[in-house]
Amino acid sequence: MGTRQVQNEEYGTTMYMPLDGGATRIGFPIRLDKEGGVLDRSNITVESLIEQAKRSFAPYELHFKELQWWTAYRVGHRIAEQFSLERRVFLCGDSCHTHSSTAAQGMNLGIMDSHNLAWKIFWYERKGAKADILDTYQQERKCVAEEVISIDQKLARFTANKIPKNSSTGLNSTFAKELNYAFFVKNWAFTMGTGIEYTESFLNSFDDGMPPGENSWPRPGQRGPDGWLLKYPKLQRIQLFMEMPQIGCFHILVFAGDLGRNINSLQSFAGHLHSDQAFWERYGRDESFKILFITLTMTNHVDKSLPIDTFLGAHALYVDAQEPDGAIGACHKRYGVDVEGQGEIVVVRPDGWLGYRVGLDNYDNIDKYFEKFML
Ligand SMILES: Cc1cc2nc3c(=O)[nH]c(=O)nc-3n(C[C@H](O)[C@H](O)[C@H](O)COP(=O)(O)OP(=O)(O)OC[C@H]3O[C@@H](n4cnc5c(N)ncnc54)[C@H](O)[C@@H]3O)c2cc1C
Repeated sequence: MGTRQVQNEEYGTTMYMPLDGGATRIGFPIRLDKEGGVLDRSNITVESLIEQAKRSFAPYELHFKELQWWTAYRVGHRIAEQFSLERRVFLCGDSCHTHSSTAAQGMNLGIMDSHNLAWKIFWYERKGAKADILDTYQQERKCVAEEVISIDQKLARFTANKIPKNSSTGLNSTFAKELNYAFFVKNWAFTMGTGIEYTESFLNSFDDGMPPGENSWPRPGQRGPDGWLLKYPKLQRIQLFMEMPQIGCFHILVFAGDLGRNINSLQSFAGHLHSDQAFWERYGRDESFKILFITLTMTNHVDKSLPIDTFLGAHALYVDAQEPDGAIGACHKRYGVDVEGQGEIVVVRPDGWLGYRVGLDNYDNIDKYFEKFML
């Protein structure tokens, strides 16, 4: 049994979904004695809840073997004016935004708040980032909470049968269909958390002219996608995300394309890494960054065309040559890198969101990206 809904005129929408151990979670709006009344939890008994749950299921029948847990709460749509104070106090989760449980977003938002904040505190405290980095927590997360609340206000109204006067009732009404489309179809990636997009800032930098638009996906401010690669030298098939553990470091994805064409740029970048101006030398080397070189060149050609030892050192090398369907370069394409082109470098923030991207030849712009928020 997947998630299902029952719609009836008295209760509005009742949602039920399977839980572990054969249990079922049922969520329904409680009927109050009078219109506009306030929920008084002290009046609620297990018997009265079971009775209401059964009525909310009509015309279907509901039978209880056991009630393991219950709660009753009043939906409050609230958001804190500030998510942080004087760069010393930070609010995450329900302490700064609340809404109904209809879209199952509360815990997800709270975890993502903490995930967004944790690495910024770490880079400020331990890595020499400027204090401004702490301000980006509210800049990035408050508008996400506002959007969830705005969608949830409509969802909660629908759940409680408080729909616009000119709309018909029920799951097939225009209002229900539009809501369903807006939340679960159009915005599914936002709802999953993977489609959340942060606006331009010194952390999500468009300096190299990445215009917002379909073709440049994924852009700085968007989450980087996953992919499959072969890892040098054993050439075992690995998942990109497994090579990018989120332990506080930036991941620098060097999409080198065809080595035959781009080997000079690649070697030049590798040489630059050890210069005094390079982000790598200035901001913590392999304690702050992990560099992943990703080539299109087939594995049996890698040794011959790439003088690996001259630059690889501690960095890892991958071949973008194996998708389940045998496609070559799929990871390049997922990151919007032209497989016929000059190669690109994508800077991925410690939380997995893209910070910056630049052509392989313009690698020294990465130093400027980090200079903006590092002391
Ligand atoms: C019925 C229901 C179903 C839900 N379903 C989902 C779902 O499917 N998916 C989802 O993502 N979210 C869901 N949520 C929302 C989710 O449960 C909350 O958003 C999430 O638990 C909030 O986490 P939090 O850590 O911010 O706050 P809380 O979980 O409230 O944690 C705060 C903690 O701080 C403690 N505390 C309070 N004051 C003090 C103090 N002065 N000193 C010390 N400790 C203190 C509290 O005791 C509590 O343990 C649901 C919520 C409800 C009510």
